[in-house]
Amino acid sequence: MDDSNNNADKNVGNNAINKFISIDILNSSSLFSVKIVDLDTFEVTYANQSMKAIMADEKAKNCWEAVYAQSSPCMWCKVHELLNQKKNGNDNDSVTYEHFNEVANKWYQIQEKILTIENNKKLLITFALDISMQKETQSQLINSHVQLSFQTKALKEAKEKLKEQASHDYLTNLYNRRYFQHLSQDLISIAKREAIELSIIMLDIDCFKMVNDTYGHSTGDQVLKHLAAILNKHTRESDIVARIGGEEFAILLLHADENRAAEIAEKLRASVETQPVKINENTEIPFTISLGVASVDVENDLNIDACLNKSDAALYDAKNSGRNKMIVYSPHIK
Ligand code: GH3
Ligand code: MG
Ligand code: MG
Repeated sequence: MDDSNNNADKNVGNNAINKFISIDILNSSSLFSVKIVDLDTFEVTYANQSMKAIMADEKAKNCWEAVYAQSSPCMWCKVHELLNQKKNGNDNDSVTYEHFNEVANKWYQIQEKILTIENNKKLLITFALDISMQKETQSQLINSHVQLSFQTKALKEAKEKLKEQASHDYLTNLYNRRYFQHLSQDLISIAKREAIELSIIMLDIDCFKMVNDTYGHSTGDQVLKHLAAILNKHTRESDIVARIGGEEFAILLLHADENRAAEIAEKLRASVETQPVKINENTEIPFTISLGVASVDVENDLNIDACLNKSDAALYDAKNSGRNKMIVYSPHIK
């Protein structure tokens, strides 16, 4: 192709532009980078100043080289798509897409359309709008959103942990006294409304001071954990098992009258008596518990403390009558 032919080709773009819009406006536009590609030759036949500023090589023959420094047609090229639309009679259609221009190192929103001029010549006109700032803001926003959701998750987990710490005993992982009282109070109200029978077992390790004195405090801790496991094993999910003092535990039993509670308490006493704590291959520590049982009188027991007092009185009786015993509360016990 000689120079005059080349110039004639280049004019294709200018003429086409002049037909649709003043070339001066486009040339001075800093908002849009505009180019026109002749679809017979894939040459850039027009580029405004803003487009020239971001082109890889203005003088290169094909648009992919000239604009994007690609050695073959761009993978994101929309010409086929647009030609197909045109074939299907969709003359007004254009494509809009976002693209990161590696040469300019910027994000662009690109709108492209095929123009048909004299002799059925087809041109691709491209408007590119620099959206790098928006993209940057968008990714910052996404980043802070992700960070925020991480922080919220961590905060939620910390809160859950605090809640767990506030309601549970650190050593046995049973409920603590405060939470036991809180839960039991609620359950008593429900039991009153729904006519559910409730009972309380209070229990205390016998001569625990001696276990500590003989084997040491950490072995004493092991005994407490061992007992907690036995209590969990012999109660139901719906029962509330708590460590309410040093070596003192309470269980609120649901759907259990005094007799049923006494049966469970006796089973606990026997289990503890027959399951010593194994410290190592050669050492087993036998221990026993004393228990006091009282049914909750939902009509007359004003609060959980009143119920606890009754089972505590029965427990006191069990201790006084020789330990390793289960005693059911009766009004004669003071
Ligand atoms: P009794 O049969 O009358 O209940 O006698 P006891 O020795 O069990 O009762 P006492 O109240 O004299 O002693 C309770 C002991 O429990 C004393 C205390 O050091 C121990 N204790 C309380 N909390 C813990 C704990 O968390 N770990 C250990 N290892 N010991 C504890
Ligand atoms: Mg004790
Ligand atoms: Mg005690």
